[in-house]
Amino acid sequence: MAAKCALLGAWTRVSSVFVIAVTASAIIAAAAIAGTSSASAADWNCQPEARAQHKLEPPTLQQPYNIGQLKFLLRDYYFCGGYAQDFATVVAEASAYLHQHASEYKKPALVLDIDETSLSNWVEIDQDDFGFIPGGACPMRPGMACGDLAWELSSRATALKPTLALFKDAKAAHIPVFFITGRRDQSNLRLATIKNLNKVGYHHWDGLVMRPILSTGSVAAFKSKARADLEARGYTVVVNMGDQESDLDGGAHAKKAIRLPNPFYFIP
Ligand SMILES: [Mg+2]
Repeated sequence: MAAKCALLGAWTRVSSVFVIAVTASAIIAAAAIAGTSSASAADWNCQPEARAQHKLEPPTLQQPYNIGQLKFLLRDYYFCGGYAQDFATVVAEASAYLHQHASEYKKPALVLDIDETSLSNWVEIDQDDFGFIPGGACPMRPGMACGDLAWELSSRATALKPTLALFKDAKAAHIPVFFITGRRDQSNLRLATIKNLNKVGYHHWDGLVMRPILSTGSVAAFKSKARADLEARGYTVVVNMGDQESDLDGGAHAKKAIRLPNPFYFIP
């Protein structure tokens, strides 16, 4: 805690350029603290004097990117509200478009991605210090990794509230909502995903399309085809919202593609 606060206070912003006024050893020490014990919002210094840092702006390349500094910025962006604010702004854009245009189509539909669109995996992301660990258990103990499949099977992801509100508004307006996710369609993961969605408030959705186990190639091709399948059933995807470009595929098979912020990981 003390080391983090000292680090945060040592960053100053001059003429849009971050000046790092701490020693390399101090940065490494703080990054190590953040990485070895999962951080929490209560631990983080979001004092008003540091507000300028809560937007995600990496340092200029006077030096090569330093992964410890970038992790620090990501946690600051998340814990101090920058991420939530940017996320809500984009969802508001999706909501406005959906409600303005849905009535133009006979069978309008809203398509949502799941991870970092409808559900937040921040707890896992933070626990793994921004690494991706596909296998192994997820004990959620300090200093221990959390395997991705075990995490998803535990149904512990939380709702991203702006998306949940959009979902509920769409359902109230009788607009069908479909989830299309890159999560693999294996029986235990399908059940765990359904359980997670229902647990956090996504009720009475109209379909859940998961990626077939044997599907290879880009996620974009799978998702684009899933939207084309909806079109073949007579639906018009008025809004397709996701956190990766591969969720959107340039807007194919949707009237409006909405890209949410996700600086935490990349899915090609
Ligand atoms: Mg996603």
